[in-house]
Amino acid sequence: RLRAGRPRGIQFGPDSLTKVFAVTSGKGGVGKSTVTANLAVALAARGLAVGLVDVDVFGFSIPGLLGVEDAVPTRVNDMILPPVAHGVKAISIGMFLEPSDDPSPGRGSGQATGSGQAGKRRPQAVSWRGPMLHRTVQQFLTDVWFGDLDVLLLDLPPGTGDVAISVGQLLPHAEVLVVTTPQIAAADVAERSGLAARQTGQTVSGVIENMAGLAQPDGSVLDLFGSGGGAEVAGRLGVPLLASVPISVPLRVGGDIGVPIVLSDPADPAAVALTAVAEQL
Ligand code: ADP
Repeated sequence: RLRAGRPRGIQFGPDSLTKVFAVTSGKGGVGKSTVTANLAVALAARGLAVGLVDVDVFGFSIPGLLGVEDAVPTRVNDMILPPVAHGVKAISIGMFLEPSDDPSPGRGSGQATGSGQAGKRRPQAVSWRGPMLHRTVQQFLTDVWFGDLDVLLLDLPPGTGDVAISVGQLLPHAEVLVVTTPQIAAADVAERSGLAARQTGQTVSGVIENMAGLAQPDGSVLDLFGSGGGAEVAGRLGVPLLASVPISVPLRVGGDIGVPIVLSDPADPAAVALTAVAEQL
């Protein structure tokens, strides 16, 4: 369980030299976590010290995307050491769930109780209210020992809820990246997530369009989710469109197997687009 240790300040606050990026989206399923995991790994591959805090408490997916879904953070005294995945120090609420009681093979064998041990955990519903969410975000930023970081990325839940507000209060200097699809109909909610970040004083530094046109074998492009949404949101927020990441089967597979595409298939157009974003940060 996460617990309060001795009182400490928030790491990576406005006085720190660490660049902080919070990745948000208007709604779920647009690839926000996939983009965040790839950016983190691409930055680490450039030799930077990178931390990733998964505060998408209701829909956490970072452990799976980075291939550490069974990792248990190590405890040293009253600090928590985050697992390192592809060079990224990553922490997620998913790493603090109890092992399942399900006795079926490969599931819930009950090993994941001690420090640093691995064990299978089943997806569990997390249904917390605001104060509990705020404490969790706070503890990730106080009790998890990242050491010195060049860059800290936060994977926010979609929308403008309690966690986004907590992050805005605790890390008001964070730069916000908005992920959206090319669908114009999704532009309103995406714009709202950027506007909400501004209300807590954060800077929106750009929009990343994801799930853009799928290249067909005959050379044509299928705009499965329409086109223009990224530019629309960027224009409304008055920030740059940092990339348009195409739909990519290898990108999806990379997420499924826990090896982000920027490592597994760096020549894929989606990987090229994501690597280019990391180079701009
Ligand atoms: P979110 O964090 O916004 O809820 P995820 O990152 O979990 O979204 O992505 C949702 C699903 O879409 C995942 O199965 C992921 O593999 C897939 N996905 C994300 N981006 C792409 C893409 N560019 N091409 C193909 N599949 C993608």
